[in-house]
Amino acid sequence: MTDTLPDIQSVFDWMKSSSHPLLIAGPCSAETEEQVHETVDAIAKTKQVSLVRAGIWKPRTRPNTFEGVGEVGLKWLKDAGIKNNLPVATEVANAQHVEACLKAGIDVLWVGARTTGNPFSVQEIADALRGVDIPVIVKNPIHPDLQLWIGAIERIRDSGISKIAAMHRGFSFYGESVYRNEPRWEIPIALKTMLPELPVFCDPSHISGRPDLIQMVSQRALDLGMVGLMIETHRDPTSAWSDAKQQITPSTLNEIISALEIREEVCIDQEFIDQLQSLRRKIDGLDEEIIELIAKRMGIAKEIGEYKKDNGVTILQLERWTEIVKSRNFWGQSLGLSAEFLNRYLEQIHKESIRTQTKVMNQSNEDTEIPW
Ligand code: PEP
Ligand code: MN
Repeated sequence: MTDTLPDIQSVFDWMKSSSHPLLIAGPCSAETEEQVHETVDAIAKTKQVSLVRAGIWKPRTRPNTFEGVGEVGLKWLKDAGIKNNLPVATEVANAQHVEACLKAGIDVLWVGARTTGNPFSVQEIADALRGVDIPVIVKNPIHPDLQLWIGAIERIRDSGISKIAAMHRGFSFYGESVYRNEPRWEIPIALKTMLPELPVFCDPSHISGRPDLIQMVSQRALDLGMVGLMIETHRDPTSAWSDAKQQITPSTLNEIISALEIREEVCIDQEFIDQLQSLRRKIDGLDEEIIELIAKRMGIAKEIGEYKKDNGVTILQLERWTEIVKSRNFWGQSLGLSAEFLNRYLEQIHKESIRTQTKVMNQSNEDTEIPW
């Protein structure tokens, strides 16, 4: 039976070269044998999914909630995978989990967001993996710390694992948001820039926290070049023992996947290439002008700093800053720029002006960072 399963090595090779996303689906948690089988059977029928997921040990934020069925669920998951000719994946958080998964023949492991944030745990997992080359997916840590994410990937890689992928599942925050975990897309983009060979997946379920955002988040992830998606899917989401609010049915999964636009990262049409090149030349010219203008602006800010220093005047004049924010927002927004962008831009410009003037005031050549 095992011989007929898709070879996960080739799945990973394909993942790097294919322009089609690799889809992972399955319940947040394995709950009962029947629930696992029924859900996996329905997912397999969509013929859209390459890897099945289910959580066996669940890291819950608060105690006294469902913490997973434990080792018994590994067999349910593996059997459901074999029955449907699909490889299976689960989350591991310590060495015992790794050992149990290897014994049960689980095909792919992932490190969850709470575990990635703890180097002791990641190292324990990495040590338990020494000598076995099973594919491992490393989710981002719950807080937006790129170095911690990269550190976990390095620990797994250094244990000899060659098939490593990352998974972007958003970042926790305190306050109101439409998302359960904010995507902060710039962070997975920075990861891809630093490690271009690393396949990066997206988990739109944990970013969204609700079904109606999953389509949009999935499309955005694909448009940013992510190789695949992991979508929590349950035969009956309303009765799920964990993450009931964000899970979808296999038929909704099918609809979402079918509606995704798959775009290519490259296009070999000569007319397109020429047109793109000519537009990019315009961008290059404009960037040069913008940088020259910003440098000129900073030169004047320095002059103002010297003038203020000679006259004993403070760096910050609140009234002037308020007026700048207001007028630039007015000009920029009337030209179609968003308030969010303008405010971020102005904040950075202002920060750099203050840094420049602080250097003048203190007659120092050192870069003095002013914390905000
Ligand atoms: C999960 O995938 O079920 C899970 C617990 O996710 P995360 O580690 O991203 O919170
Ligand atoms: Mn979940």
